[in-house]
Amino acid sequence: MVTFNAIRIDKDDGEQRAAYVEMSDDELMDGDVDIEITHSTLNYKDGLAITGKGPVVRRFPMIPGVDFTGRVTTSSHHDFQPGDLVVAGGCGLGEAHYGGLAERARVSGEWLVPLPDRLSSQEAMTIGTAGVTAMFCVMALERFGLTPDRGPVVVTGAVGGVGSVAVALLARGGWRVAAVTGRPEQADYLMRLGAAEVLDRNEFASPGKPLQKRRFAGGMDTVGSTTLANVISQIDYDGAVAACGNARGMDLPASVAPFILRGVSLLGVESVRPRLELRREAWTRLAKELDHAALAEIRKMIPFSQALTRATDLVDGKAQGRIVVEIG
Ligand code: NDP
Repeated sequence: MVTFNAIRIDKDDGEQRAAYVEMSDDELMDGDVDIEITHSTLNYKDGLAITGKGPVVRRFPMIPGVDFTGRVTTSSHHDFQPGDLVVAGGCGLGEAHYGGLAERARVSGEWLVPLPDRLSSQEAMTIGTAGVTAMFCVMALERFGLTPDRGPVVVTGAVGGVGSVAVALLARGGWRVAAVTGRPEQADYLMRLGAAEVLDRNEFASPGKPLQKRRFAGGMDTVGSTTLANVISQIDYDGAVAACGNARGMDLPASVAPFILRGVSLLGVESVRPRLELRREAWTRLAKELDHAALAEIRKMIPFSQALTRATDLVDGKAQGRIVVEIG
């Protein structure tokens, strides 16, 4: 029996509480691959799970952490051998299946992607679920047929994890990126990632006209609510917005006018379901299209011992870029 340290969320008498605990590998959930975790991350969703501010956890007890990288220790899955370096994300990790904020994991091999050659374990977690989601948004816009020659693309929640990777990816893909943020003091950071202009999120905060000045060919929204409604209202004819987040709210107080009078499309993006082929494609592209300098810019490393306290910063909107947790 191997013992390991983990953050565990328990619920007693309706009260949810997260704490560092020691567990043993016979407590792990079902799976055909055991992994020694080296790195995990803090995502917005992990912040909600750990603080209990959102209904993320679907069974208790739960180890939070929607993604991790690590080394395979045992495997009965045909694709993986002991010693292989792997990446996991989404697939219910940290929600319905024990996640990455622990020294050990046991998961289905169908949820794992080999660590891409060009990436270190830290870099893969700098990308993580946030990066995969940003790449899924880019792929959605591409599938729709949008190209950089059509005009600028707007990214909301730009200083956040998904937003930061999206700004870097789109800029490297040749787009003129307008980054929307509530933190103007982070303008230099966004410019270093490749943003061409930085816009104040207050411009998108209040309910606006259904059809506003056509400013963008496309959009990538991590915020939802009135912000997304205003973005949709500012998209040019036959443009599209990929919507993946709800950092401001789940609601969408929008008009159908941009859809029926400008042919604007709203593309939904989710990155939780396994869909192995799509994930592998996303990881291959992320490893190729994001340079080491951009990843270093986005990354903040923290020790495992700080993960619980830093989770609160995330839900308070104080985190910048991606928080990578050093576990191993
Ligand atoms: P972060 O907390 O890192 O970033 C969220 C950003 O949203 C903040 O940094 C802030 O950007 C902006 N924001 C927060 N509150 C408000 C507000 N009230 N009004 C306007 N902007 C606000 O989160 P992530 O990047 O990890 O995740 C972003 C969103 O994407 C979350 O809602 C998350 O749940 C969702 N998500 C969805 C996935 C999917 O599968 N669909 C997968 C992964 C994430 P700034 O400081 O620049 O203003």
